Order: sequence, then C-alpha cells, then structure tokens
Amino acid sequence: MFTCELCSVGTELLLGDILNTNAQYLSRELAALGIAVLHQGTVGDNPQRLADELSASLKRSDIVILTGGLGPTADDITKEVCCELLGFQLVRDESILRSIAAHFQKRGSVMPASNLKQADVPASGTVFENTRGTAPGMALEKDGKCVILLPGPPKEMSAMFDISVRPFLLNKYADGVIVSRSIRTFGIGESAMAERIADMLDGENPTVAPYAKEGEALVRVTAKAESAEAAHALLAPVVSEITARLGEFVYGIDAGSLQETVVKLLLEKKLKAAFAESCTAGYVAKRLTEIPGASEVFDCGVVTYSNAMKVKLLGVSEQTLREHGAVSEQTAREMAEGVRAVSGADVGVSVTGVAGPGASEKKPAGLSYIGICGKEGTFAVRFETGREHDREYNRYVTSSKALDVLRRYINSL
Ligand code: ATP
Ligand code: MG
Repeated sequence: MFTCELCSVGTELLLGDILNTNAQYLSRELAALGIAVLHQGTVGDNPQRLADELSASLKRSDIVILTGGLGPTADDITKEVCCELLGFQLVRDESILRSIAAHFQKRGSVMPASNLKQADVPASGTVFENTRGTAPGMALEKDGKCVILLPGPPKEMSAMFDISVRPFLLNKYADGVIVSRSIRTFGIGESAMAERIADMLDGENPTVAPYAKEGEALVRVTAKAESAEAAHALLAPVVSEITARLGEFVYGIDAGSLQETVVKLLLEKKLKAAFAESCTAGYVAKRLTEIPGASEVFDCGVVTYSNAMKVKLLGVSEQTLREHGAVSEQTAREMAEGVRAVSGADVGVSVTGVAGPGASEKKPAGLSYIGICGKEGTFAVRFETGREHDREYNRYVTSSKALDVLRRYINSL
C-alpha cells in the first residue's frame, strides 16, 4: 500500500482565516483509492519552511500532495520551491500560455504580466490542466517518490483531482478500491443503534462504523476489493442485514438528507404538502425547498408564531389554546387541519413546541407536537429532544422529527 501526506500551503490557513477543506476532500478521496494518508501538514507562504516540510514528508511517504501557492503573485512559491528541491527545471509552455491568455480574453480582460509564470512547467513531469482557472497542476516523480502540486481554490483543486489526478493515481499508485455505503437513520440513538448491530462491528472487510450527528445516527459500511464491482458484492449482504435490523428507523441508504428522502417520497406518491410551523418558524420549509424539484410537492409554509395568528390564519380554536396551550396535541392537530384546509394540499403538517432555553406554559424546552392531517384523518406525535438549553439544537432536531413523521406517514399510505 502506498503512503501519502498532504501539505497545505497558505499563511491564511495558519491565521485561521479559512478552513482547510482541501485536506478533508483529499483525505477522503485518497482513502477511497486505498492510498493511506499518514500525515497532514500546513505551512505558510515561506520558502524555507515549505522546503523543510517537503523534505520531511518525502522521508516518510511515497506521495506528497501540496495545495495552494500556484497563483501568479509573489507569495505564490510552491512550484518554484518544489522544483528547486527536487531538481526539476522550469520551462515556459506556449500552449499553456495561450490557454491562460484565452481564459482572460473570455472574461474581456487582458492577461497581467504576473500570470506569465503560471505557464512555467517542469521540463519533465506530468502537467494537469486547470479547467476552472489558470494555474496548471503537476506531478514530479523522482527516486520512487511522487510530489503532486494542485491549486488552492477548492473548486479548481477538486475539478483537477477528478479529471486528472484520480486517473493518474489509479494508474500508478492505487492498490484496489474502497467503496462505502451509508445507512441513515432518525429516531434511534447511536448507542441503541450500535447495540442492534454489535456483532457486526468487528468485521474487517467490510468494516462497519456507527456515527451520530445532529440528532441522527448513521452506519458506514466500507469494503476494499480489486474492483468496484467486487467491493459492492462484499457490501451488499452486510448493508441489507443492517437495514433489516434497524428497520423503520432507516430513512435512506446513501441518501443526502431527510428532506431529500421526503421530497422523493412525495414526488413518488404525487402528493402536495403544506406546513404550519410555530417553534421551528420555517425550518422545515427551508430544508424541504433546498431540494431541487420541491416546487412539485411543496405547496406552502406558514409561520404562525403567536396564538392570535394560529387562530386567524389556521382557524385553531381559542378554547383549545386556552385549555391545552399552544404546545399541545390538540393545537398541533388543529394547525395541521387548518393549513391543509387553507391550502387545499393533500397533506397538512404542523409543528408546535418549546425551543427554549427554559420552559414555557410549564412545558420543558425541547418538547414538541407534530401534527399530520391527510384525507384519512388527523393525528399528532409527541416528541422530546431532551435538551433544555440548546435552542438551536431543539429547533433543528424538531424540524428533523417533523420530516421523519411525514416520511413515516407517506410510507404508511
Ligand atoms: P490563486 O491563483 O487564487 O492565488 P493558489 O493556487 O495560489 O491560487 P492560494 O493563493 O494558496 O492558491 O489560495 C487561493 C484561495 O484558495 C485562498 O484564498 C482560499 O480561499 C482557497 N484555499 C487555499 N488553500 C485552501 C485549503 N487548503 N482549503 C480551503 N481553501 C483553500
Ligand atoms: Mg495564491
């Protein structure tokens, strides 16, 4: 197995001005190629420290991938430092120069003289075209080691990786392929989930790993094999066994999110839904409308925060509010019925709860009721996040619960 290190170049990374998303992207992609990333380093735009870092990396690893510092300005030094250290000579490439000039021409501007140096590439070595910007990337191979230089801007870097670097690495350095699948759940805690699949957690190929995130839990199953087909064949029985054991809690395999799953289900069943939100104040509507195609299934969302508006817009009865309070099963039911009636949608969905911090109507923060009204009738579900002090968490997880209640309802039709 080949070993690899990442070196991110840029003083702004060290100052905390930007987050090192390039390292995350590359680590994930390299792991998927079966290339082990042993170390991640970051250095500022300083020639000596960059040279020191690269020398140290080359002692430890077969491949070093650097990002950043390929631009036209004086502080962009990565290419010069790497070529000097490895003994590669830089020569100006006329065809790269023409494509950089064309890049500026397309934007109606003239190429600044400082960009000339971006057309300098090592006389021997592999050059990677930049389809999103001007600086080409490159691979310098020497004495069994390989140094890869990629541009800093994440979109340029990831496009170059996709188009040129992955095939380059697959061809020369990859050692089998790694494929992962994620089984996503809502409503079961990480430890309860792990308990159900405890006997599967020691597997070596595939490996099974549980994760928890923002009120959700997922299991990642990862297999390594000679080919993608062989990896999928190893994954299939394990994924279906885990899916069976987690049952109703599973909302998707390799699904993007709960909202994506809900939009897909509504589209499949040709249903339109309308939403009335109190404590989440549009969070459910926002999440659903992030998904392309939402306009086919999302009819409307209203935020009825005050009791007066619950009465005026949704027809919730004043008596219900007086006797049970705004955060109650009865109010949730009437809100769902009201928004369905007002909109004429197939399904009305409501959320009313206490976001916190602190109790309201003598009800604890994190408590909510989700109402659903369809042509079969109305019901409401009680939910507690269990967190008293985390208003943002309560709002987010309550919106997830509303999406999950809707998902289960559509599945039951
Ligand atoms: P340019 O031609 O834009 O100067 P470059 O290859 O010289 O590109 P840098 O100057 O190091 O790259 O970085 C350009 C921009 O790319 C940074 O301002 C930052 O927004 C982004 N960037 C650089 N490195 C990273 C990183 N490791 N993670 C995320 N973003 C990064
Ligand atoms: Mg730069």
